[in-house]
Amino acid sequence: MDDPLNDPHLRFRHLAEVLDQMPVGVSIAEAPSGKLLFNNAEALRLLRLPLRTMPGFDSHTAHGAIVFEGRPADPQQSPIIRALRGEHVGPEEINYLRGDGTTVCLLVNARPVRNATGGIVEAVATFSDVTDKKLAELRLQDAETKLQLAVDMASLGFWEWDIASNDAYFSPHWKRQIGYQDHEITNRFDEWLRRVHPDDLRMTQERIQDFLQNPTQDYRIEFRFRHRDKSYRWIQAKARLVLDEHGRPQRMIGTHLDITDHKQREEQVRQTVQHDRLTGLPNRALLLELADGWLSAAQRSGKLFAVLFIDLDEFKPINDSYGHHIGDLVLKEVAMRLKTSFRSQDIIGRLGGDEFVVLVTQLDNALGAAHAAQHAVRQLSLPYRIQDLELRTSPSIGISLFPGHGKDIASLLRNADTAMYEAKQRGKASYRFYAGGGDAIVDPGQIDQRLRTGFAHNELQLYFQPIVDMHTHRLMAVEALLRWPGADGSFVPPDVFLPVAEQNGMMREIGGWVLREACAQHGRWRQEGLRAIEIGINLSAMEFRDASLANALASTMPRLDIDPRLLWFEISDRALTGNLDYAVCALNELKALGMRITLDDFGAGYASLEQLSRLPIDRVKIDRSLIATLPNDRASIAVIEAAIVYGHSLGIEVIAEGLESEEVRGFLEQRHCYQAQGYFLARPMPGAEFSAWYRRAGLH
Ligand code: C2E
Ligand code: CA
Ligand code: CA
Repeated sequence: MDDPLNDPHLRFRHLAEVLDQMPVGVSIAEAPSGKLLFNNAEALRLLRLPLRTMPGFDSHTAHGAIVFEGRPADPQQSPIIRALRGEHVGPEEINYLRGDGTTVCLLVNARPVRNATGGIVEAVATFSDVTDKKLAELRLQDAETKLQLAVDMASLGFWEWDIASNDAYFSPHWKRQIGYQDHEITNRFDEWLRRVHPDDLRMTQERIQDFLQNPTQDYRIEFRFRHRDKSYRWIQAKARLVLDEHGRPQRMIGTHLDITDHKQREEQVRQTVQHDRLTGLPNRALLLELADGWLSAAQRSGKLFAVLFIDLDEFKPINDSYGHHIGDLVLKEVAMRLKTSFRSQDIIGRLGGDEFVVLVTQLDNALGAAHAAQHAVRQLSLPYRIQDLELRTSPSIGISLFPGHGKDIASLLRNADTAMYEAKQRGKASYRFYAGGGDAIVDPGQIDQRLRTGFAHNELQLYFQPIVDMHTHRLMAVEALLRWPGADGSFVPPDVFLPVAEQNGMMREIGGWVLREACAQHGRWRQEGLRAIEIGINLSAMEFRDASLANALASTMPRLDIDPRLLWFEISDRALTGNLDYAVCALNELKALGMRITLDDFGAGYASLEQLSRLPIDRVKIDRSLIATLPNDRASIAVIEAAIVYGHSLGIEVIAEGLESEEVRGFLEQRHCYQAQGYFLARPMPGAEFSAWYRRAGLH
């Protein structure tokens, strides 16, 4: 993707126009070098820096020049450098030594900016000058009397609270700030509490109690406070405690500063940095951030989540023949139509150029995504009346589904992009679902009916993929995987048609067929002279939650002519969310019938290590999305290593799923994980091909 926003120079040229208007300083530094990529006008003024970007001048010198109590402090502690290391900094007051040798006290916020995979690419710091306020505060420390304080700190509200009597004093200035004359508010502490925003009340009270118990700590809180006009103002309160002659807290005295403007500016900066300037839609950065939240919500609720990658057809000719101005107006109109085409909980963003993304949340099944996409195709294909022109464009939409097509937003976006490309190839003004591994791209809108007839016509097949112990050269089992071939020899992926089957009530029937067919295949292998092969059968969340499962199995098993101990039920850890006690019970019922249990898709973020120890399972499969990040992703490595060590310590066999390379095999071997399944060993294959493969592989 050729994203102009990825070019820092272009990007900052656009940003500069907006950011230079702001009354706060904004600096952006690059990770990991710390090089300053950008400073807005206010940043240059506040820090007394000569140039917007300073070659050879990094944040360590510009932002690192902080002083603490008059002495130079460790540059590593400067906010922007802490943010480059991942910290969310501020608001914090920090003294800077500026380019011209003077010092300034700045109120600073700094945040890391992460890329799609969560790596830190930049840090953004915003800051404003609070030197005057700081001076006032310094005077507060020496001041003896209330009067003196009130005079010194004209801009601050002053207050005092007598703890025993609950009497309070609020300076007239402070009362004016919240819209009242001196006599209109009584000097009572409860009166003050009543005006604190309900959402901030508990925090405020807790902090006060805390402070009374540990008076040495720094008391500084921010909360919303009701103004006479019923609006809420953001207040920053600071205080100190006055003790009586026995060392007991007697009074609290402090200041109130109205920081509403500051909060609003902060919000503006956030908005500007995270939104696309042309359409006002969330940009890529914000989209990724929002997606994270929705992905974990989808995990908890078990609902689907779709990523629609939208690219306009024939948009370039519009730009070329009518100019960018007209092109921009079309893009704005597209943004408008997208907003009205989707539900309010869906998230619409612009990646740049003519690329948009919609995160369709809380879906019950893939059909919902198909309907949404179809609707958007219709809406965006209507003519665009721009000035006197009637212009036409249409969208090509690629769809990926969570969790089937990717467990994180980066892979979902990538796969939706691939499907979008496919849609373009196949005729534009249309949508396509992602189908991994080059399988057919399908429309679940039609699947429902086709699945009914297809199942009735015996179109479903079972493929088998070996699971191997590479240390002992033993075949541990084969996993049975559903295949539904289309007329052109491609396959409809199970991730796409199984959700439909769960929805239309066919899952039970299909599950029953899988079990019978797997056992029949087992019988055929025996007849060919193979040893008894253990078979893994996937149970969908729906099948697993079906309370009659164990009973149904108990009555069918005798007819299936297989030793139940050869059957391994694979249950995704997604199916175990919710009531763990129920899961333990249900698993024990299956085990009582003689079958064994594999916990599937471990590490994708559902089950925890602790649950491993509580569940009566015999094997665990590490999710292939984790294995796919090897050998470089630190976070996955930590999960994988923990799963291996912990699993082995519990006597559970640990299988790596999705082993695709020698490199990853080596990685696993070093960690004593020899049991694996994946294309590196063998792809899923029809039962008839398996015996030849097994003999060729020389496994026992
Ligand atoms: P799963 O249980 O996690 O199955 C493993 C999936 O990983 C299979 O995808 C398999 O083809 C794929 N795979 C194996 N090795 C590799 C590799 O090295 N690289 C990559 N990229 N992929 C690999 P498949 O067959 O598309 O199945 C998808 C999912 O559909 C399965 O995930 C399972 O949840 C479900 N499913 C498949 N068959 C059945 C079934 O009979 N019943 C039920 N309830 N679910 C099934
Ligand atoms: Ca499986
Ligand atoms: Ca799996």
